[in-house]
Amino acid sequence: HVRVRFCPSPTGTPHVGMVRTALFNWAEARHTGGTFVFRIEDTDAARDSEESYNQILDALHWLGIDWDEGVEVGGPDGPYRQSERGDIYRDVAQKLLEAGYAYESYSTSEEIEARNVAAGRPAAFGYDGYDRNLTEEQKAAYRAEGRKPAIRLRMPDEDIAFDDLIRGRIEFKAGSVPDYVIVRPNGDPLYTLTNPVDDAMMRINVVLRGEDLLSSTPRQIVLYRCLMELGIAKEMPLFGHMPYVMGKGKKKLSKRDPESNLFLHRDHGFIREGLLNYLALLGWSIAADRDVFSMDEMIEAFDVRNVKANPAHFDIDKAIAINAEHIRVLEPQDFLNRSVPYLAAEGLVSADSWDALSDREREILTAAAPLVQPRVRLLGEVGGMVGSLLSTSGEIEPDEDAQKQLKDSAADVLDAAIAALEGVDAAQWNHEYLHELLSKALVEEAGFKPRLAFGPVRVAMSGRRVSPPLFESMEIVGKDISVARLKFLRS
Ligand code: GLU
Repeated sequence: HVRVRFCPSPTGTPHVGMVRTALFNWAEARHTGGTFVFRIEDTDAARDSEESYNQILDALHWLGIDWDEGVEVGGPDGPYRQSERGDIYRDVAQKLLEAGYAYESYSTSEEIEARNVAAGRPAAFGYDGYDRNLTEEQKAAYRAEGRKPAIRLRMPDEDIAFDDLIRGRIEFKAGSVPDYVIVRPNGDPLYTLTNPVDDAMMRINVVLRGEDLLSSTPRQIVLYRCLMELGIAKEMPLFGHMPYVMGKGKKKLSKRDPESNLFLHRDHGFIREGLLNYLALLGWSIAADRDVFSMDEMIEAFDVRNVKANPAHFDIDKAIAINAEHIRVLEPQDFLNRSVPYLAAEGLVSADSWDALSDREREILTAAAPLVQPRVRLLGEVGGMVGSLLSTSGEIEPDEDAQKQLKDSAADVLDAAIAALEGVDAAQWNHEYLHELLSKALVEEAGFKPRLAFGPVRVAMSGRRVSPPLFESMEIVGKDISVARLKFLRS
């Protein structure tokens, strides 16, 4: 039975790499019928924040990544916030000390550096093992000076190797990892202790995480062996380290890059299906010739052994193209429900939920959905498409891009169009008839080329060069407003 976990530290806003980690662990649990544990690693009071914690929850809820044990839902191995598990870590640290796996270390960083320099090593060489075998008298003397000890884990003098699920055999040479601190002198337990202790107590058997944590794995393996000796851990977990996500210019995508910010993508109008699909491609693929798939399909196919070891590249254009595919297949009403908050944010509708809209707004949006849905890649683009349909104004100012489209012939085109449209009976005002009528009046009779003929009409109706189909738009907006808009542009 596979037990995986997602255990972010709540610092900053949720980022792409973090969510990819959650997604792959979730997919592994769901594919195998295993258990997905969600724990919060908030032992660093100076950096962790409640706001970040809430944002991580918001992100997972929005994406539909659910967990079986952990914060909010509880479970047999709680609490699931490390800030509430201090007693557990103190107890384990005490046992490690008593068994001799860990020891009290009184060296200050200045002393360590000075010893390194004296021995001809670089000052920043790191801890030298000096306190490994202090006698009780030596410790008492330090304590008498008012010093408090850190607790360090004793690293064995042997190579440490493991078979990474993604990268194959990984080896660390003996002596390459110094005895490291697991509890600070002030008593605070560090990630180096809390993470493997919780993995052990929560019976995690597959640790899937980012490549950046690879260097901590030999330490964790050593600590795990101690925990097994102490009966706290049952078995060594398997490890898999997912590839780095690269941004522009062959640089690692950093948490501070805007492209890394999950909520920015949501604000731009990624839907969860599109974003998850794209994130799944960061190190994994469902088939060589296939980019678009659902989460059910991912769960069906996912196998951590198929995750690639080489760096993945974050390609926003590809992400947007995939999102468009997912928008296209939404139920039209679902598409509208999800678009409304974006329209509200732009001030284009009167409320931020479908049910709270006016009848008129609902009617227009329902008519517009089939025109708009196949043409947007992000929900943030819907407003630009439907704004002129929702507006009751007869005066639409063209944007700069549209302005440039207007040729000298625009005035004549508009005059001819206005003359033709003014004579239309309201009962005949539908897109088929309007298409026929304007083709005849502008192209056949007035002799304009089709592109020159309809361009100015489009700009008059929408103020934009790209808009939903023209005649359907005119039908939705109605005769009076349409004619008024043509006259306004003509004036
Ligand atoms: N709290 C760690 C982090 O956010 C988790 C590391 C791990 O998955 O082991 O980087």
